[in-house]
Amino acid sequence: MSFSALRHSSPRIIIAGAGMSGLCLAIQLKRAGIETFQVFEKSPDVGGTWLENHYPNSGCDIPSHLYSFSFDRRHDWSQKYARQPEILNYFQTCADKFGIRPFIQFNTGIEKAIFDESEKIWYVTTSDGITHEADVFVSAVGQLNRPKIPQIEGVEQFQGDTWHSARWRDDVDLSGKDVAVIGNGASAIQFLPGLAQQAKSVTLFQRSANWIHPLNNYRYPAWAKWAFRWLPFAQRLHRGWIFLVSEARFVAFANGENFANREYRRWLTRRMKKAATNEIRSQVIPDYPPGCKRILLSSDYIETLNRENVRLISAPLEKFDSAGVVTQGESIPVDAAIFATGFETTGFLQPMHIVGRNGLSLEEAYQPRPHTLLGMMNAGFPNLFMLYGPNTNLGHNSIIFMVECQVNFVLKCLNAKAQRKSQLIEPKPEAVEEYDHQLQDKLEATIWAGDCASWYKNAQGSIVNNWWGTATAFWRRTRKVDENQLKFEE
Ligand code: NAP
Repeated sequence: MSFSALRHSSPRIIIAGAGMSGLCLAIQLKRAGIETFQVFEKSPDVGGTWLENHYPNSGCDIPSHLYSFSFDRRHDWSQKYARQPEILNYFQTCADKFGIRPFIQFNTGIEKAIFDESEKIWYVTTSDGITHEADVFVSAVGQLNRPKIPQIEGVEQFQGDTWHSARWRDDVDLSGKDVAVIGNGASAIQFLPGLAQQAKSVTLFQRSANWIHPLNNYRYPAWAKWAFRWLPFAQRLHRGWIFLVSEARFVAFANGENFANREYRRWLTRRMKKAATNEIRSQVIPDYPPGCKRILLSSDYIETLNRENVRLISAPLEKFDSAGVVTQGESIPVDAAIFATGFETTGFLQPMHIVGRNGLSLEEAYQPRPHTLLGMMNAGFPNLFMLYGPNTNLGHNSIIFMVECQVNFVLKCLNAKAQRKSQLIEPKPEAVEEYDHQLQDKLEATIWAGDCASWYKNAQGSIVNNWWGTATAFWRRTRKVDENQLKFEE
């Protein structure tokens, strides 16, 4: 699609965030010949979550040939599941290659964005105190950008170091130290095996067990990299195959505890029981169906729990004292405590303060839960778009694919607005309600609706993070803009 109407209309676009999704939008705008955009990024570089999550062995559990942009496929990924430095390098290289850096103001977060109804523009205030005018405002801050640290009594008296996994302290050497880790999610299971080899002891606090699927990572041999470079079809085939296999996995999540889910559960249980020693076996097998919480991929996590210097505690961490942690009345001295306790996932776009028509803030509009059109648009918030917003997360496939679909949709919306010579575009409230109705219906059938607590749900138990279906279903739903669902205003 040429987006020529959009190009000629030259809207001033402000993008919040230069992570994967902000970069994707910036690149696609630039490729379409639109250069009237400005990106504000709170960090000193691009990469978002991949810049921040540099804990040891941080990596992605979606294969790299798929966890990368369709328009910039890298042929020389070193391994099936690349680690963080290689992924970050990929996004940084994309920013350079497509000439995006001059459009980004680093070390500058967006604090608020207020829509002015009379002037039909957004006033966007950044952390340097400057207020910018924008015709279109796009949030690309993602779902996993604000570390969550539980309030635990006595933490301020603790003499050792504490930090969150997404703010890893590279300056603290944990060799030979006693370390407590709180949380056993996707981040913890990646750094735990290395930590257990380095530290004197590791005490892991688990609130609930997770299903662990083998990672089976492997390095690409030279001939495969050669083939991916010189036979682009081979690479496309490889990427397409990974996509199809990932999509097929959704069968086990689509309809609650269906046959596929029960069989998968049996298979995982067998494997996990075999990997665990008698001491920990009963603690590591979850009591909910696989997929209800995110399934974790690792080939050495359970084996690490079997080590003599690792202690798995399923009781709560009651409090800190000056020397360490206390659980069930027992004091365990530790030199450091690492919170691998995840992120604030349900306060979308926060801490940015976004105000749309009639002075309504997005935070207010999202009580008790978000109602959006396709997770990208909100009624009453004209010319506001979100990337990786509510109900756009996946548990089985690449989020980059989802974001590319969203960027395509946003560009098509802006082009439709330009073609109509409209100043404003926003979804009709009735279209949002109809979409929400269908979404809730579909979500109710999925495995995430099951009886488990997960970051996919808000405090009221509504699933606010995940899309209901396959990535292909999202592509089908977003590849065309249904203008009947939208209001255009001169
Ligand atoms: P997470 O998966 O949400 O795990 C947080 C862990 O902390 C869970 O074990 C949780 O227990 C525990 N926890 C939270 N609050 C607690 C509290 N108050 N007291 C005790 N324990 C508490 O967070 P994460 O590991 O940082 O990963 C977040 C997401 O980031 C992942 O799901 C994934 O989408 C993404 N990620 C992806 C990769 C990848 O390979 N693609 C790697 C890392 C992260 P409960 O389970 O009981 O809630």
